[in-house]
Amino acid sequence: MGINNVKGTHDVIGSEANLYSAIESLLKQIAELHAYNEVRPPVLEYSELFVRGVGESSDVVRKEMYTFLDKGQRSLTLRPEFTAGIMRLIVQNKLLATNDWPLKLYYCGPVFRYERPQLGRYRQFNQFGVEAVGHNSPINDVEVITMAYIMLTSLGLENVTIKINTLGDEESRNAYRDALKAFFKDKVANMCEDCRSRYELNPLRILDCKVPEDQEIVKDAPHMSQYLSDSSKARFETVCNALKELNIPFEVDDSLVRGLDYYSETVFEFHYVSQKGNDYGAIGAGGHYSHLVKEVGGPDVPGIGFSFGIERLASVISDDGLIPTDIENKCDIYVMSLGEQNQIYALAYANDARLAGYNVEMCFDNTKLGNMFKRAEKKSAKVALIIGDNEIEKGIVILKNMATKEQKEVLASEFIDEIDKLLANCDDNCCCGNNCKCEN
Ligand code: AMP
Repeated sequence: MGINNVKGTHDVIGSEANLYSAIESLLKQIAELHAYNEVRPPVLEYSELFVRGVGESSDVVRKEMYTFLDKGQRSLTLRPEFTAGIMRLIVQNKLLATNDWPLKLYYCGPVFRYERPQLGRYRQFNQFGVEAVGHNSPINDVEVITMAYIMLTSLGLENVTIKINTLGDEESRNAYRDALKAFFKDKVANMCEDCRSRYELNPLRILDCKVPEDQEIVKDAPHMSQYLSDSSKARFETVCNALKELNIPFEVDDSLVRGLDYYSETVFEFHYVSQKGNDYGAIGAGGHYSHLVKEVGGPDVPGIGFSFGIERLASVISDDGLIPTDIENKCDIYVMSLGEQNQIYALAYANDARLAGYNVEMCFDNTKLGNMFKRAEKKSAKVALIIGDNEIEKGIVILKNMATKEQKEVLASEFIDEIDKLLANCDDNCCCGNNCKCEN
């Protein structure tokens, strides 16, 4: 019996893998245009980082972490999210000491959560995200939300709904927590077991409960907006007004609380309904945090970040047919050697052409030329390069234009120039005289 992949994981193959790469490279490009730099924290961290950073009352820490003891009896966890690890990386590497604030970082990679696998929900999935750390300006929040919006529209996603809310400062949240405790006091005994422990640990989490009977009760709970301090109210107004000023469409959703404990002030989610009407829920989310850097041993400075789920982005993009997902034919040159002993020379030509920027495949079978041409055609190769004993002796190679079937012998030392001419991607009106690699 074969061995299958682990439940909740998935293999990414062919056109899907191409799509993931295209999404990731576009997101990276836009982050870099906003002066963000890439970081790659390890997948493994000490469990304590997430318990302290993400928070004991979050579902992620209580139920979803892949935690184990290593052979040295240390409790390690496969990261269930990036933000806490990025804060650790910033503090440990003293990045705040040498950079202007906000320090702007982006990341991309797999995260692990022991959730119930279902459509669009995996146990290993990929996130792309950013963190802007060290500045409390509400306009920094706006820049981050705006960048996320630019990323989504650049991917061609037009039906994005930005939901935004404020969780206020500590004073606001303490007042709100008290109000929620008072509201749920005589109701919580009839709610689910999770809600009963959420009531003790952090009653805000009750608002996230997915149990329908509990949701009925939650509907009448007091709203955050009633408990905001003046400064949090003013901060949120600044954020909303700036987004309006920049024509970024958004809706304020007073029930948005986010599932991770570190958030304060501005929080947001990006929701998507495809043109076919499929509701994908949140394709990305984020928010502001006040004390996370301090929590992991750094200075008491705030930050803001968001992350997109790459799987979700890929699904909506495929659903809306925004990026062609067929595996693009990329083979420029198919290299054929006549005689097994000449394969090593063929490989040297293949490598030179690759270094010149061409996509090259090589035939490793010692088969008839006719068979090799069939393979080249199957791969839609643009040029076939053929070498055998004769060619090696004369210091030449044969190039065949697979479209016109024209074939010519060229000096081995000039074969790249000849291929440049054959594959020049221009029309007869081009100023370069049909060789786009010229300097004109
Ligand atoms: P979060 O870190 O929970 O704020 O999630 C950020 C984004 O990651 C979400 O908006 C989703 O797009 C994606 N995401 C979260 N959990 C999963 C999952 N189990 N499977 C796939 N994508 C997920």
